[in-house]
Amino acid sequence: FQRIVLASRPRGEVKAENFRLESAILPELQDGEVCVRNQFLSLDPYMRGRMSAAKSYAASQELDQTMIGGTAGRVTASRHPDFAEGDAVVGLLGWAEAGVARGDALRKVDTGTIALSAYLGVAGMPGMAAWYGLNHIMHAREGETVVVSAASGAVGSVLGQLAKLRGCRAVGIAGGPEKCAHVVVELGFDACVDYKAGNLLADLSAATPDGVDALFENAGGAVFDAALSRMNGFGRIAVCGLISGYSGAPAPIHNIGALLIKRISLRGFIVTEHLECWPQGLAELAALVAAGQLRYRETVAPGLASAPDAFIGLLKGQNFGKQLVRLM
Ligand code: NDP
Repeated sequence: FQRIVLASRPRGEVKAENFRLESAILPELQDGEVCVRNQFLSLDPYMRGRMSAAKSYAASQELDQTMIGGTAGRVTASRHPDFAEGDAVVGLLGWAEAGVARGDALRKVDTGTIALSAYLGVAGMPGMAAWYGLNHIMHAREGETVVVSAASGAVGSVLGQLAKLRGCRAVGIAGGPEKCAHVVVELGFDACVDYKAGNLLADLSAATPDGVDALFENAGGAVFDAALSRMNGFGRIAVCGLISGYSGAPAPIHNIGALLIKRISLRGFIVTEHLECWPQGLAELAALVAAGQLRYRETVAPGLASAPDAFIGLLKGQNFGKQLVRLM
């Protein structure tokens, strides 16, 4: 089978030569293990952090090993009583066409009502990040104004829709008119501000006439700074990601004083550290997707070899919705 390994660590922006496509041989299946043929790979911004040797909340990706990542596919052989050939499963098999995992590291999913790929996005880890932030950090109530950056993306699109479902005013921030139109027209947000249009603060002020009660931060930098200046007293901020700084030095934040003056609660979180919430959150998300109440968009790159360029594009905002790779 083919896989992509981390060939070298990026300095600044990720480049195609940081990866290497190679052939490998599957290990022999042991008791309790399952062999999976991957159909979709999930590409996620956190992978940029793992490519670096800098100390973080999780260990670095090792050189010359399969790139880490979420996967969705079908069981091809099983020596685990809970899995049979043909079962649809999600796991963490990385950037590879196939892999072997212990059964307890795989989750069986129902593709009867939801597409397999959705378990990597809206009904998977990104959806859970939105669900966790909204429910456990932002405590958004009906009538409040909620703002989310990277609003057309895998996490942001779910956050705004969940906020709307509980009666909040949902305002997105996204890059470009096409993404902003999608966020309002297709996803049903009340407004979306194009941070690339050059009037971020004025446009965000116009979109949040009553200020911001709860902020879900995905971008960092100037986008975060502008949102901070719109916060209401006793506002809540969930820091989910700071993607604008992943490939270099993060931009300085000038409005840090708002945290004090407005008595704001701010909490960063890593959704994989709250697995106890996943059964409830995933069930809610899956039910909403199946009922057509949670919409999602995907950008699907064709074939394993396309993963490095698709990942580089993701870090530059070239994806539109959840970035996946479909394996041939
Ligand atoms: P997205 O699908 O939103 O894709 C990333 C998007 O980030 C791009 O499309 C782009 O949208 C935006 N972006 C890229 N560069 C910049 C920049 N310089 N300034 C502002 N925006 C930028 O990815 P995800 O939904 O998967 O992830 C969104 C965020 O959530 C990331 O920061 C990620 O690290 C974080 N995350 C955190 C988790 C946690 O547990 N804490 C779990 C999952 C995700 P645009 O064109 O609109 O700028």
